[in-house]
Amino acid sequence: MENNIRVRFAPSPTGGLHLGGVRTALFNYLFAKKNHGKFILRIEDTDQTRFVAGAEEYIVDCLNWCGLAPDESPQTPGAFGPYRQSERKESYKQYAEQLVASGHAYYAFDTTEELNAKRNEQPNFLYGQKTRMQMRNSLTLTSNEVDDLLTQQTPYVVRIKMPENETVSFLDMIRGLVSFDTNLVDDKVLLKADGMPTYHLAVVVDDKAMEISHAFRGEEWLPSAPIHLLLWKYLGWEAEMPKWAHLPLILKPDGNGKLSKRDGDRLGFPVYAMTWSDPKTGDLTKGFKELGFMPEAFVNLLAMLGWNDGSDTEIFTLNELIESFSIERISKAGAKFDFEKAKWYNHEWIKNTSAAGLKNDVSAVLAKENITVENKSLLLTVIDLVKDRCNLLGDFGPQSSYFFTNPEAYDIASVKPKWSAEKASFFKEFSQNITPNLNAQQMEGEFKDLAETRGFKPGELMLPFRIMLVGGKFGPGVFDIAVLLGATTVKNRIDLAITAFNA
Ligand code: GLU
Repeated sequence: MENNIRVRFAPSPTGGLHLGGVRTALFNYLFAKKNHGKFILRIEDTDQTRFVAGAEEYIVDCLNWCGLAPDESPQTPGAFGPYRQSERKESYKQYAEQLVASGHAYYAFDTTEELNAKRNEQPNFLYGQKTRMQMRNSLTLTSNEVDDLLTQQTPYVVRIKMPENETVSFLDMIRGLVSFDTNLVDDKVLLKADGMPTYHLAVVVDDKAMEISHAFRGEEWLPSAPIHLLLWKYLGWEAEMPKWAHLPLILKPDGNGKLSKRDGDRLGFPVYAMTWSDPKTGDLTKGFKELGFMPEAFVNLLAMLGWNDGSDTEIFTLNELIESFSIERISKAGAKFDFEKAKWYNHEWIKNTSAAGLKNDVSAVLAKENITVENKSLLLTVIDLVKDRCNLLGDFGPQSSYFFTNPEAYDIASVKPKWSAEKASFFKEFSQNITPNLNAQQMEGEFKDLAETRGFKPGELMLPFRIMLVGGKFGPGVFDIAVLLGATTVKNRIDLAITAFNA
């Protein structure tokens, strides 16, 4: 069943995609899918000074990685293209003109120098009701002067003329009734001197042209809402205005303000969905993907930043999210980002994913350590044995590489102080007793019997044995490891380790 629900994710291609941006995309996606509507990607690239090469492709890659493929986008256009605002440039000017003609906007010819002089004179200068009559614009110049300036192709911008003493209100789907005093809003630029619209004009014109039914965006855009509401009204499109929802901010871990990329750098966690390499500076900022997050876990944890289904359930697949999602359950309050909790989600997802489902990721992790596993069924067994111990996909490196290659180093410090000739001799004899067909329980039995015969507590020998096989103090049951390694490898590792421990 199709209907006319159309929502859009409208990022500006200016750099890495912040997790808050992905959450906005996700909530749009969930709403669209839940309501059998369309999810649209619109690239808002009208600010040529902030344009960054490669940023659009990167955004598309991020959405695809998350499984949030748009129904319509620059790459998969529908009937409402183009999907890049820069390619829609010609469509905006007429509306700016229409607003000037109806008295809701005006031409402003002030040069940068004039504006700077004004700002020096009045430190809190805002171009608006109190100041607009001191400036060089079509409100202060005669119509002949304006015509002359236009004929001479003098650069100008078009500014909205904010009305005085009005209250502008709308019903936000999350916040309820939100009202603004127009006296507090300045005369924002709608059309720039280069003929490009600003965000304010473009967002309204495009939401109308693309028949957007619901517009969900971050709370940081709430102060812009009165401008957009007035534009919808002044352009005569009020009845078609989308329903708005301003999504709560994602906050720093301590709750003090919006989470920024700098917080991630400072506190050592990613803020971008995928690694972003800045083409200008060459700086590389690591993303959740490259840090070893599963996309399913990333999407799941983002959904829970500001939303829940009303129960204690925390783990949701994308389909379950679509099923349970409702805008009404999005909270008004900002959501604190907790990286430990984010890792917990990833851990749960790793734990609950089958070995077959993890195989490709784990193979890629091992390949980085130059390990190629030929025996696929062994790989699956190993994944099942260690996945409980992994928070990040990269943890499969240390947690499983020793199944396929001898430890590169031993945690000698944990063995050496209590190492003795008697222990070495124990392991030599134990090594001789290992036969290929022992199961873990039988091997443990042999180990303990021999320990007892030689007057050891088995506990004193388990740690050295583990370090012989694994290199460190981690991993699943040591006899499970030994059985998977096989008799020959175990004997070999015991020999190598004894030499290292004795040295
Ligand atoms: N281009 C805006 C941004 O970069 C979009 C805001 C909106 O969705 O209206 O976030």
